[in-house]
Amino acid sequence: MREYFRNIYRGIWTVLIGMKITFKHLFTPAVTIQYPDVKLKLPERARNRLYVNMDDCIGCFQCDMACPVDCIKIETVKSLPTEDLGMTSTGQKKRLWVTQFDIDIAKCCYCGLCVYPCPTECIKMTDVYEFSEFDRHNLIYNYATVTTAEVTDIKARAAEFEKEQAAKKAAAAQAAAAAKAAQPAPAPPAANPPSTPPPQSPS
Ligand code: SF4
Ligand code: SF4
Repeated sequence: MREYFRNIYRGIWTVLIGMKITFKHLFTPAVTIQYPDVKLKLPERARNRLYVNMDDCIGCFQCDMACPVDCIKIETVKSLPTEDLGMTSTGQKKRLWVTQFDIDIAKCCYCGLCVYPCPTECIKMTDVYEFSEFDRHNLIYNYATVTTAEVTDIKARAAEFEKEQAAKKAAAAQAAAAAKAAQPAPAPPAANPPSTPPPQSPS
């Protein structure tokens, strides 16, 4: 009987020893937070999801060239002389249609190297870090603001312009060749008179 109560006492005491740390933390301030209901304030220079302001992008490829993992894909088409694409907010003239600007954020390592060379400061790192997806293809962000139909139209106009320019160039070259062929052949050079009189024979 005595052994029976001793075992009960040991059982209770062992549980109390095991719960000592738990009880201690019940009365100390918590260091964890109830995410996602509560969120920590991120540091000012935190690097998370990228954002591109396409109104200011001039399609210079600087960000693409700087990216160490090649996750930026840009495609541009030269605008026609008759098209005015406007200016960036930093005062640069836009000369190229940016028909594709994709960032595969699943590959991005948040190094920020694409941000620094941008001449118009239009690619930035934001503090957005909640963008998980079930399908990784949804992590390819398309920033270009032109629609597929517009891209087709822009490319067709550019191709037509190139064709016209090539035809003009060929016609100019042909005209130059014809003008050259129509010029009279240069006359043959006249025989030179002797520069010194023949020597006089002694009388
Ligand atoms: S942050 Fe780094 S890895 Fe991500 S797109 Fe920019 S250069 Fe590439
Ligand atoms: S560096 Fe800036 S302006 Fe140039 S293509 Fe990239 S985002 Fe556009």
